Amino acid sequence: MSTAKALNTNELIFEEKCLHKPPLEELQEVLQSILTKNFANVTVKVAECPNLKTSEYGLMDVGLGGCPTLLELGGAPYLLPTVQKDKLYDIKDICRKCMGEGGKILAVGAGAGPYPLRNTNCEGIFNLSISAQDEIENGSYTAKVTGLQEDCLLEPIPDTETRCALLLNLYVCRGEPGPVLKITCKKRTGHMNFIECIRKGLYEKYQDKCDLDLRLQHFHSFSRANWGGHYHYDTTPDTVEYEAYFHVAERIVRVDKPKTTHKFGRD
Ligand SMILES: [Zn+2]
Repeated sequence: MSTAKALNTNELIFEEKCLHKPPLEELQEVLQSILTKNFANVTVKVAECPNLKTSEYGLMDVGLGGCPTLLELGGAPYLLPTVQKDKLYDIKDICRKCMGEGGKILAVGAGAGPYPLRNTNCEGIFNLSISAQDEIENGSYTAKVTGLQEDCLLEPIPDTETRCALLLNLYVCRGEPGPVLKITCKKRTGHMNFIECIRKGLYEKYQDKCDLDLRLQHFHSFSRANWGGHYHYDTTPDTVEYEAYFHVAERIVRVDKPKTTHKFGRD
């Protein structure tokens, strides 16, 4: 494993903003009407979060509750025109600074994987818990394409590896149980993908603008069958099914925002 060091978290600029947090019941109605325009069968409910630590879901803690926070780190400008290899970050230190001393943390989301671990650029599918004593349980993966067939290779990230590269979009919370939005959708009838449909519908309703140079859409997934990576779209609209659990963040923390920016690579 390469020993390339992550940047010192204490030298990174952290910016923070409170977010408008509509009640789940209001969002239930908004999302039901948005998704019905794009999918044949849609149910949106306010429900108790299932135990997300069971093997069915595979997260590193039970729920999405407790100080729900969006953490956005770096950005696509660090990828173009040339990759800035010094943009290596320590997720554990950054999450700890974001959430304050003490208390457990669950962090899930999408970003660039720790390239020194794989000796190549890779996708990072992040899913880790940090205990009150700062112990890591890492359920994260990297995904990359390999060989002439361009097969997908999904590999677990060990507990000892807490770096990521370039950019990261995390949902960070205390991993506590509580109410969430449960969404199920079947059969896509419109042209928008699942995430895009929700994002555009929420924008239409709330028009919330943030000047933090954010990537507004980014979703990675993993499975138990070597498939995982960056979600662009579904290719089987007639048979596609989604089941999703969402909570609403009450603040956003922006870390190491690029000084010069562009609009490439935002979806
Ligand atoms: Zn991605």
